[in-house]
Amino acid sequence: MRPFTFDSAATPREAIETALAWNGGANGTTHFLAGGTTLIDLMKLDVMRPERLIDINPLRSSEFGRIAIGDGGLWMGALVRMADAAEHPDIVRHFPAVAQSLQLAASQQIRNMATLGGNVLQRTRCPYFRDVSYRECNKRNPGSGCAALDGFSRSHAVLGTSDQCIASYPGDFAQTLIALDAMVDMAGPNGLRRMSFAELHRQPQSRPEIETVIQPGELIVSFFVPATPLARRSVFLKVRDRESYEFALASAAVGLDLNNGIVRDVRIALGGVATVPWRASQAEAVLRGSVLDEAAQDAAARVAFSGAQAREHNGFKIELGRRTLKRAIAQAAVLEI
Ligand SMILES: Cc1cc2nc3c(=O)[nH]c(=O)nc-3n(C[C@H](O)[C@H](O)[C@H](O)COP(=O)(O)OP(=O)(O)OC[C@H]3O[C@@H](n4cnc5c(N)ncnc54)[C@H](O)[C@@H]3O)c2cc1C
Ligand code: SF4
Repeated sequence: MRPFTFDSAATPREAIETALAWNGGANGTTHFLAGGTTLIDLMKLDVMRPERLIDINPLRSSEFGRIAIGDGGLWMGALVRMADAAEHPDIVRHFPAVAQSLQLAASQQIRNMATLGGNVLQRTRCPYFRDVSYRECNKRNPGSGCAALDGFSRSHAVLGTSDQCIASYPGDFAQTLIALDAMVDMAGPNGLRRMSFAELHRQPQSRPEIETVIQPGELIVSFFVPATPLARRSVFLKVRDRESYEFALASAAVGLDLNNGIVRDVRIALGGVATVPWRASQAEAVLRGSVLDEAAQDAAARVAFSGAQAREHNGFKIELGRRTLKRAIAQAAVLEI
């Protein structure tokens, strides 16, 4: 592991100013340290090489570490541990997909340490990205090519890919945030800003190394999930090679608003199959206003993957993704609320 300087921030302002003062900000050679389960892992592999870490854990005593549920919805600070949100009884009851997407992620030990903010910013598990002996990786080494295009592509994405990168987004929680219309609050050098969580991640296109719209020095402060019928009748379903401690091959987060078997409204986000947490808007449009029967579910699953592009080893994800989505919709439909 390379040597680095360790700082600690007592306030958000201190964290932001320290990040900006050092070599151009947090996306350059400075990184904020939350639970460290992604960052330290990648530093040990020599994939990430920050010269300075700023420990933001002291901010946990502020809104960064709080869970609050009110009439309007659910606030979760960016430094809330995954385990604390996953096991929170009111989240389990009123925002089931939020709890499920966290319960099904990683292991209990990692969930005890890892934070919600760090979770949405985790990096891809593409084996060529994580192994520096491969020079060709546009994400790690911009302009070098992509070893996965003609390599072993079983874990890679079929939606949102480009000829520069086909790495899949690995997390689970982000899909639920998108399906439940969550907002994210960020603090930066120009103050606070709030945006739709669905706008946070960027598809790779010609710049796979830029994964989000977060600006240098910007901190995620919290997430807000509105209390809606979609949130109450929500499901997160994950399919993986083994039943614990494994990333998704395909996942679906579904929020349903049903009225006598007719879909009044629906939100769908897909994981494991796309380069970013993937909103399946066309599938939602197919379901909205329709009777939720087998034919409607088939049509939604088909259209969700109509633009999919497979490589040599990941074609199976298209059918797996469709089935996962259908099962998630069916589970949401029979949920007792
Ligand atoms: C073996 C293993 C299995 C896993 N399985 C799963 C899984 O199945 N599903 C899943 O979803 N995840 C899985 N994970 C990923 C894990 O959930 C993430 O590593 C974790 O959530 C990251 O959170 P952290 O607090 O440790 O982030 P850190 O490692 O501290 O930070 C990650 C990145 O986010 C930045 N950051 C952190 N907090 C903020 C903030 N508030 N504002 C701005 N930037 C910030 C850091 O600078 C860093 O770049 C797995 C991890 C491992 C090691
Ligand atoms: S898929 Fe993306 S992350 Fe993987 S080797 Fe290609 S450029 Fe790198």
